[in-house]
Amino acid sequence: MPFTSSSPGRSGRAEPNSFKRRLEARDVELRERLERPSDQTSTVEPDRAIGRLTRLDAMQAGHVSEELRRQAAAERSRIAQALQRIADGTYGICPRCDEPIPDARLEAKPDAVLCLACASSKT
Ligand SMILES: [Zn+2]
Repeated sequence: MPFTSSSPGRSGRAEPNSFKRRLEARDVELRERLERPSDQTSTVEPDRAIGRLTRLDAMQAGHVSEELRRQAAAERSRIAQALQRIADGTYGICPRCDEPIPDARLEAKPDAVLCLACASSKT
């Protein structure tokens, strides 16, 4: 993975721009996945697609890709939200408790809007 973070950034805080690049790249990836016709997902390897399990495999692949598309669409809306927050300068601050979200969480999940405590206590 080409991480070109030559400068560690002021006060140890991760640069929002690096998250922005990651989010944008992820968004492109998801958009391409959503635009790709579901019958071209090619999750079944050619030599495994031969035989009596072919139809079942195809059905499962279809089901999985439908689920993946839903997840991809949901992730894209979170990414759009995160990018908007970067633009607003509020990225990395939990909107519910106003506490900064730890860099470790943003590293693992750049589209996180809420801090871990708020995200895990959805009411
Ligand atoms: Zn919070």
